[in-house]
Amino acid sequence: VKADRRGDFAFFTPSLEKRLRNETELEAALLSADLPSELQVELQPIVSLGSGNACGVEALARWNSAAIGKIEPARFIETAERLNLIGSITTNLFVKSLAHLAVLPAGLDLSFNLSARDIVTPSTIDTLISELHLHQIAPQRLTFEITETALMRDFDSAITQIKRLRDLGASIALDDFGTGFSSLSYLSRLPIDKIKIDRSFVNNLDDPGVRKIVAAILGMCQTLELGCVAEGVETPEQFLMLRAMGYSLAQGYLFARPMQVEELQGWLHGPGG
Ligand code: C2E
Ligand code: CA
Ligand code: CA
Ligand code: CA
Repeated sequence: VKADRRGDFAFFTPSLEKRLRNETELEAALLSADLPSELQVELQPIVSLGSGNACGVEALARWNSAAIGKIEPARFIETAERLNLIGSITTNLFVKSLAHLAVLPAGLDLSFNLSARDIVTPSTIDTLISELHLHQIAPQRLTFEITETALMRDFDSAITQIKRLRDLGASIALDDFGTGFSSLSYLSRLPIDKIKIDRSFVNNLDDPGVRKIVAAILGMCQTLELGCVAEGVETPEQFLMLRAMGYSLAQGYLFARPMQVEELQGWLHGPGG
């Protein structure tokens, strides 16, 4: 919308009109969706840069709407929060993710994204915990990914809820690190175990200034005893630079795209895994 706000007639631009219509369509599609059948989970490997082996997978939501087709998660998650549908969506995705995890090697961990609303909703966290027990998955195999902006919305209740997951033995990762509020002063006091450095940094590793920041973030993580995962690795050059800096974990199209579980099983057995 920002790009349209040059003149007084900003609100009448066709692109805004189209977006509003799309948003209405999206809401209608979400409200009428048969979410259990329309939602899927794809898994993207998180690899060890030393061995090249996968040590975990991140669960990524996929929605193929019967009414309007495939919609990116970054778009529908926000709308789902507004329509109060996020709790059931998160629960549905989590159950599907745990079922996938059950057919994968026991050495693989699962990273699962929680939305801003999820982390302040005790009943959602209750359900996640009972599903973990029900599926008899060791909480130690789970990492819950949250963003800094989500934490900031209602800091105290978010901390209370993520502590519940952490007390069980699950890990907490701060996602998209470097893009948010970047409140470095309390990073050492947050109940988190790792950070995921945003792919915008990895994208710009050819810039010496960015390279220094990326190296400094790893140094900071080592001092604070936090794990550090590099996201969005797309080229061999990025991979080699990160490994030379001392990064040990990464994720990105260079290694593998998000895949359905059957495809992932093949990938794990093949030369790429
Ligand atoms: P995210 O958590 O930062 O997830 C990583 C995103 O980067 C994914 O996009 C993934 O497909 C993409 N990606 C991975 N490797 C590369 C790469 O090398 N290059 C590029 N350009 N992209 C890469 P996706 O699946 O479209 O998800 C977008 C965002 O939607 C996620 O960002 C996350 O914030 C949200 N999301 C996805 N699934 C869920 C979910 O189950 N629950 C919640 N609450 N949010 C989700
Ligand atoms: Ca994530
Ligand atoms: Ca991320
Ligand atoms: Ca993101």
